[in-house]
This record gives sequence, C-alpha cells and structure tokens, in this order.
Amino acid sequence: MNNVFVVNAGSSSLKYQLINMADESVLASGNCERIGIEGGILTYKWNGEKKVLNEELANHKAALDKVVALLTSGETKVIDSMDDIVAVGHRVAFSMSQSNEITDEVLAGIEGTVSMFPLHIPAMVTGIKACRETFAGKVQVAVYDNSFHLSMPDKAYMYAIPYEYYEKYGMRRYGYHGTSHRYVTLRLAEILGKKPEELKIVSCHLGNGSSITAVDGGKSVDTTMGYTPLAGLMMGTRSGDVDPALINAIAQKENLNNEEVNAILNKKSGLLGISGVSSDARDVVGAMNEGNERAALALEKFIYEVKKFIGAYATAMGGVDAIVFTAGIGENSKELRAEICQGMEYMGVKMDMEKNNVRGQEVDVSAAGSKVKIFIIPTNEELMIAMDTAALC
Ligand code: ADP
Repeated sequence: MNNVFVVNAGSSSLKYQLINMADESVLASGNCERIGIEGGILTYKWNGEKKVLNEELANHKAALDKVVALLTSGETKVIDSMDDIVAVGHRVAFSMSQSNEITDEVLAGIEGTVSMFPLHIPAMVTGIKACRETFAGKVQVAVYDNSFHLSMPDKAYMYAIPYEYYEKYGMRRYGYHGTSHRYVTLRLAEILGKKPEELKIVSCHLGNGSSITAVDGGKSVDTTMGYTPLAGLMMGTRSGDVDPALINAIAQKENLNNEEVNAILNKKSGLLGISGVSSDARDVVGAMNEGNERAALALEKFIYEVKKFIGAYATAMGGVDAIVFTAGIGENSKELRAEICQGMEYMGVKMDMEKNNVRGQEVDVSAAGSKVKIFIIPTNEELMIAMDTAALC
C-alpha cells in the first residue's frame, strides 16, 4: 500500500499524519505532546473520530511506538501492519538541497545546521532518529522549509553587507514557509488548469508566522523572510524588518546583550509588541472591536505591510496574475483579507466581498472583471511532504 507517514517533530511534541497517496486522503493524524515531560498527551484522529490518551511519553521513539500501535490495532486501526507504510517524510528547517532521502551523510548535514536553528534542529534530528528505529528499513525523506526559495536570483538573496560574510558564513536571504508557498502554487495552477510556468503569483502565508513570496513561472524569485524567519512582515510575536541599528540602540538603552535583544525581536514584538494584548490575531481583532487603539494600530500596520509587499512583488515580477491567501489569518480572516485588497483596484485587484465571506475554503474571491485573481487556498504542508516523499521512494 502506498501510505506515507509524515512527521513534524518539536522538542517535546511530534505532529503526525498517515496519508494514503492513492487518493491523498488522511487515514490518521494527531499530535504527541509533553514528550519527556510528566503528563504526556497523545491525540489521535481517524475516520472522523478522535481519541485523547493521557499517557507518559518517555521519548520520541516511545511516542511513535504508541502511534504505530494505534494505527495497526484495536478500534483505531487504519492499516493492517507496518508493511502498509512505504516511507516516512520529515519537515526539516533548512538545507541547500531540495527534498532528499535521509542517508547518514544527509543527516550529518542536517545536524550541521544546528547553530542556525538551535531550537528546531535538535528536535527534528531526534524525530528522524526515532523514526529510523520505529520505522526501521523504510525510506526516510527530508523536506526542507527553505528549499523552494533556492531558485531566487542573487539580487534577491544577497544582503548589502561585506561580500566575504556571504562567502565565509553564508549570510544571505534564505526564506522559509517554502513547502506552503510551493503547495499553494501547484494547487492554484491545478485549479486554473494552467502550468505553474505560465503564472505570476504573490503567495501570502499569513499565520502566526507570516511570509509573502513572489512566484514567477512556478519558481520563488523573492520572499520576505531572510537569513532567519525573523525578517519581513511583522508577525504574531516577531518584529519583521526593523532598522538594524535598533538592535544596538535597544541593547544600550535597556542594558541587554545581543541574545536578549534577539529574544525581544522574536518573542515580544509584532502584533503582541504593538498591541500589548496578544500575539493571536483573533484576540487583537477582538480588542480593536472593543476600542483598543493600539490593537487597531497593530492590525493597521500588519495590513499596510502586506499591501506594500504585494505591490513590491508585482513590480519585481513585472505583473501579477493571482494573489493567494493561506495559513491561519489568510484562510480565516475575511476582514483582514478585505482590508489588504482594498484600494488595490489601480493594479487590477478587485475582491468580491460576498465571495470573501468564507473561512478555510478553497475559493476564488475575485470580483468579475478583476484582472488579478484572488484566491484562498488552505495550505497543506503535510501533503506536499508526503508527495515529495512518495516521489523519492
Ligand atoms: P502557525 O504559523 O503557528 O502555523 P497558523 O497558520 O495556524 O499559525 O495561524 C495562526 C493565526 O491565525 C493566529 O494569529 C490566529 O489568530 C489566526 N486566525 C485564525 N483564525 C482567525 C480568524 N477567524 N480571524 C483572524 N485571525 C485568525
């Protein structure tokens, strides 16, 4: 059977999906939380049903073994045995390569990126190692968050800093959310009955983390995130682009070291930083509706930044055929989508407010006669990971 197990491992969590590649259906999915911490929680969804088990999850391997037991036995059974799983696909933060089979050499390469992603890579490596034991003998594939952006031209990825820093340390724009931007690109082409090569798309992944990508002819040609996922748009708790001199200024005024300033820009800024209310867009919208002016300002600035990048990327590509909204805010907030598209008629962007009155659906929300199509496409990074994995089996 052609089933792929998809893993997204965090330090104390492990999200998983088992996907049947014959029809792309999800056979089972869920999350293991509080791995290695007292009070483990295993959520398991199958056939429209859900089970939450409160069991100790000593480590990632123990959590995976429990998931496999659920997949293959009892009322939660969706496959007969491990033989029904062909391969395992992993979400991995970074590589200079496209998706590939995880050999020992590839794994060593992934481990080598730990200094760039000190929080994420150790967890991802733990997840891979655990899967190598639980799914011994199966093909393991890594799908990297930045790979889609490897097609960017040098003028888009270079920073105007001494060239030797690029050569010595690889300091350049990499971009992230690549699996999501790639998924919506392929899906949009499918919906429009065109080849990705025929389309200029501005893909707006607006969630807790947000990024916008210019996709020209199916290839990423520019993206808002940079060397790290801190750059570009303001996000839930991340500042996005600021004057780099602010880092030193904040450190001096607040008597902080580099790491502490970095933590403030990553965890205390963005919607949370300006509003002082929350990093969650729903809470900030709620506060604005109750008259909170800083909440209103935070949202106004977020909308303004999204508009600016859409305009910039349309210019970078010499036009745009479609704007796509995806991720938590992009899929669910009709208000923010409407505000973003307001006043863009000059560039042929006209939204149909009736059609826009939806949540989480795959739908064309452009008005009749809008030169630029506007789409909502719920992202599906797990399916993209499973497709890459199946292709490498
Ligand atoms: P992550 O980057 O963690 O994957 P998501 O893509 O799940 O994040 O997006 C989470 C964000 O989506 C949160 O800020 C949440 O408030 C926002 N969101 C979800 N539903 C709505 C809604 N109806 N209106 C506004 N924001 C929403």
